[in-house]
Amino acid sequence: MQTIDKFNFSGKRAIVRVDFNVPLNKQTFEVTDDTRIRGALPTINKILNDGGSAILMSHLGRPNGEVQEKYSLKHVISAVEKLVSKKITFTGDCMGENAKKLAAALKPGEVLLLENLRFYEEEEGKPYHLGENATDDEKKAAKAKVKESQKNFVKQLASYADCYVNDAFGTAHRAHASTALIAEYFDDNKKMFGYLINKELEAMDKVLLKAEKPFTAIMGGAKVSDKILVIENLLNKVDNLIIGGGMTYTFIKAQGGKIGKSLCEEDKLDLALQILEKAKANNVKVYIPTDAINADAFDANANTNTSKTNETPDGWMGLDIGEDTIAAFTEVIKNSKTILWNGPMGVFEMEKFAQGTTVIAKALAEATSNGAFTLIGGGDSVAAINKNKLAEKVSYVSTGGGAMLEYIEGKQLPGITAIRK
Ligand code: AMP
Repeated sequence: MQTIDKFNFSGKRAIVRVDFNVPLNKQTFEVTDDTRIRGALPTINKILNDGGSAILMSHLGRPNGEVQEKYSLKHVISAVEKLVSKKITFTGDCMGENAKKLAAALKPGEVLLLENLRFYEEEEGKPYHLGENATDDEKKAAKAKVKESQKNFVKQLASYADCYVNDAFGTAHRAHASTALIAEYFDDNKKMFGYLINKELEAMDKVLLKAEKPFTAIMGGAKVSDKILVIENLLNKVDNLIIGGGMTYTFIKAQGGKIGKSLCEEDKLDLALQILEKAKANNVKVYIPTDAINADAFDANANTNTSKTNETPDGWMGLDIGEDTIAAFTEVIKNSKTILWNGPMGVFEMEKFAQGTTVIAKALAEATSNGAFTLIGGGDSVAAINKNKLAEKVSYVSTGGGAMLEYIEGKQLPGITAIRK
């Protein structure tokens, strides 16, 4: 497999799938958080420093195959220019004559930015322009048509460059034109991952394939159903499984506890028991919260009390883990050598119910300083780490929530398999 480190971009045009799907100010369209652009910098700099040129392509938002001003990548130009410290050229399209001409005219050291890939329904291969009342046959025909024109789309993108770099981990679980299909048009020695994807894969493989033991997974967030496949795969790998967040109560109820009006997935009670059985069979210790901070409403100003999680008073709901649970969880974390964390311990967006998540975030930072490898992924746990300014104090914070979860589930990610054969 080709690697970006080994590849010499001198005199080469590289088409790079980056993730510039950044948040914009709704009025001024200024970039409000440039983290993702910064994430692509090492790859862009390597290409330019070698004496190559870079054609950057990305999606922004969900324009569903339609040109929409608010999703134009022109809004990111100045943020990109500031970070790469040079003027960049913007094509305003992906497929037209302009993109073709500008790509051909690109000189070493120059950067070209294509317009939002998702302005074209070919990027996702979905027939977005189908009327609501379309029949099944019409839908089938439209899908076939998009798939057909997708081939031309991919071919044209590929024709702009000598080599292909994928550095958009956040979309690696999608089999889109720019994330996977384009790789077919480049020889094996001319396609590679960028530095960001390399870092992501290294961190995840360290946890999945080379975890130093004890290995603890902390799974929080709202629902068991969202995390079931991840939990099942992890049960073959971890020593400890810590459960937190809303999914706690499906486990508590499944075991006969009283959960008041806490979040519960009634149709997942059996599944919760099966998870516990599988854990037992695999010698995995499962830690489920024993006490909680309850609220009388799902509200930042709700009245609160505390109780055991299996004795939640009627009319109350558990929205954060309690003191005993915090103590038990931090002890497990302290004694672990590898820790994977996905999902908050409580409704951390509300100050009254943020303590459990904050303490766990801090415990992870402490474990890291004591030599543990800690990987954090998933939008909300990442937000919790950032809120507590701990991103530099843990081993790795993943940039791709959905992609990371699918990788940990053991799925093949199209954007990864297209290059790693
Ligand atoms: P997820 O996207 O599945 O990781 O879920 C994250 C969401 O779970 C956050 O918005 C939290 O507010 C929510 N959450 C965490 N704990 C609870 C709880 N005990 N009850 C209801 N929602 C929760």
